[in-house]
Amino acid sequence: MISYFKEVGTAFWNTCKGLKVTLGYLFKPAITVSYPTEKLVPFEKFRGALLFDTNTCIACNLCVKACPSDCIALKNAKNEQGKTIAKVDWYTIDFGKCNFCRLCEEACPTKPKSVWHSLDYELMFQNRDEMVRSWRKEDDYVGVYFDRGEQKFKPPTGQVPIQDVPARR
Ligand code: SF4
Ligand code: SF4
Repeated sequence: MISYFKEVGTAFWNTCKGLKVTLGYLFKPAITVSYPTEKLVPFEKFRGALLFDTNTCIACNLCVKACPSDCIALKNAKNEQGKTIAKVDWYTIDFGKCNFCRLCEEACPTKPKSVWHSLDYELMFQNRDEMVRSWRKEDDYVGVYFDRGEQKFKPPTGQVPIQDVPARR
């Protein structure tokens, strides 16, 4: 009988110890995030999906030469007289070959950079076409891809810039 009550007392005491730990954490701020409605923002130098700005790019070709994976291509724009100007007609990055090394961003001489890594770590592709990102004069930083089936440029599917969701640092 004594040993029975001793066992009950020990179990009760152990339960209290467990509850003490639980209660200790109950009023502390949460360290987890409710992904995907809430996301952590990576550190500043994180090499996420590349973005490009057609307005600042001077079509100098330095990023093309710096890229070790040969995944950047561009074409200079021309003025009304047919003379080549320091602007791009189009610019492409093949994310299927990119190793996210940042050499293109480092080589870019413009301020701010015309090609740079975003903090977006959710880059995803539905097919090979989507891996080749293109930018023309009217496109935003994220760019478009050419759908060979539909023979037209389309915005990338399912890419949500990491900055557009509630963040916790
Ligand atoms: S991050 Fe590296 S591999 Fe990717 S496009 Fe830039 S230079 Fe090329
Ligand atoms: S992105 Fe930068 S390095 Fe590449 S062509 Fe444009 S200005 Fe030159």
